[in-house]
Amino acid sequence: MMKHISLSKGFKTLLSGMPDLSCVQIPEPETIAVSAMDIPYIRPRLLVKKNAPVKTGTPLFCDKRNPCIVYVSPGTGTVQQIVFGERRRLKEVVIALEKKEAFIRFEPLSSNSLDSVPRTTLIQQLQKGGLWQCFREFPSKDTADEAHAPPMIIVSLNGNDPFSPHPQVVLENETKAFDFGINLLNRFSKRVIVTSRQDSLERLNGVNPHITHTVPDFYPAWDPGVVLYQLKKTQEENRSWCISAEHLLLVATFLLTGTYPVKRVVTVTRSTDKRPHIITRQGAPVNHLVGDLDDTSLITTGLFNGRSVDPQSHLGFFETTLTILPDPQTEEFLGFLHPGMTRPTVSKTFLSCLTRAPKTLDCNLHGEERACINCGYCTKICPVDLAPNFIMKALLSDDIEDALSYGLLDCCRCGLCAYTCPSKIELTNILSHGMDAHYKDKE
Ligand code: SF4
Ligand code: SF4
Repeated sequence: MMKHISLSKGFKTLLSGMPDLSCVQIPEPETIAVSAMDIPYIRPRLLVKKNAPVKTGTPLFCDKRNPCIVYVSPGTGTVQQIVFGERRRLKEVVIALEKKEAFIRFEPLSSNSLDSVPRTTLIQQLQKGGLWQCFREFPSKDTADEAHAPPMIIVSLNGNDPFSPHPQVVLENETKAFDFGINLLNRFSKRVIVTSRQDSLERLNGVNPHITHTVPDFYPAWDPGVVLYQLKKTQEENRSWCISAEHLLLVATFLLTGTYPVKRVVTVTRSTDKRPHIITRQGAPVNHLVGDLDDTSLITTGLFNGRSVDPQSHLGFFETTLTILPDPQTEEFLGFLHPGMTRPTVSKTFLSCLTRAPKTLDCNLHGEERACINCGYCTKICPVDLAPNFIMKALLSDDIEDALSYGLLDCCRCGLCAYTCPSKIELTNILSHGMDAHYKDKE
């Protein structure tokens, strides 16, 4: 029977810009790329050179920490450019697409044969196919360790952003692949949790029987980290795995067809628009997805916790949302005197708190970073009951033991504490760096 996970904290304000449930297929781009910028912890090693021909499924780079984890080309063509950032850190491998597609082929499986294939064969096939990294392991959310049997696998149907692609669009005509994916997860763990937002439920008839838990409709109740925090009962469960519904479909489609699935459903949102979902190819160029923009816009891969991206770059392996935010780069004159009817406000500073009309986010910080005033807003909004201000102070004084004892590793990096802090302290970044430094020390 489906259970409900109750949650009292999160971002409950209605935002404008919600994508429409219709879907458009856009023309193929001229280039695609595999970005290394959205892959946590990766130490990339290039496997191709400039001008090399590649098929769909050809490995482009691997993770030096485990060379079995490869990232493959989502298209057929030629390596047009290898883009490096500071200190020659790999940014992306750009492929000029050809019209005719050629695939690296693997032996396909049938739904009936899944139970007879050894677990290690499944894992190796997914690693060679460039999809094992779809499985992420808590608490760091690094690529799952295949040697370890997870106590629980959490599948979130709702992405990681308030405006992530709607599961109705993602799962349309994919019931067979989703069923196969769930059977696959049952091979890896005895406990598979599938969560859906309450407001998505009635549109998900085909996959409804697999949903084990519903969650509230406010961000980030559907984040696997929040779900784990609510469900875990033992220390062991801190090493559970998670996978998004989109990635579960990719894994299942790859095993069923023996070829790398290139289709992606993405959303592009802006507060003044109600755009349809977009069907495109993995790694499509950002400017191909967002269209023409002026200089006063910032493009991010999430409202609260995404990275900002250059229009000339490409969408990453884990990214399914692009948000266009107004970025006027000037402070509003006497902004504190404006009633702020469309501004979201957690602290009830603006009159907008009196209306239920959708609110608009922008990049304006409305001030500079100041010292913590112990207002407690960050604690009041944190969905996993942390006191981010205490953890921040422990980390800034290099007291990792204290930070851990305050629950640092439960942080799901939702970005809400930094968003709500009136002193503009980059709490999420500070906590994220603390978690990453602790994880790398243990590696
Ligand atoms: S919201 Fe900011 S100012 Fe308020 S307690 Fe948290 S860190 Fe301090
Ligand atoms: S500490 Fe901040 S980023 Fe982490 S879960 Fe709480 S609100 Fe989200």
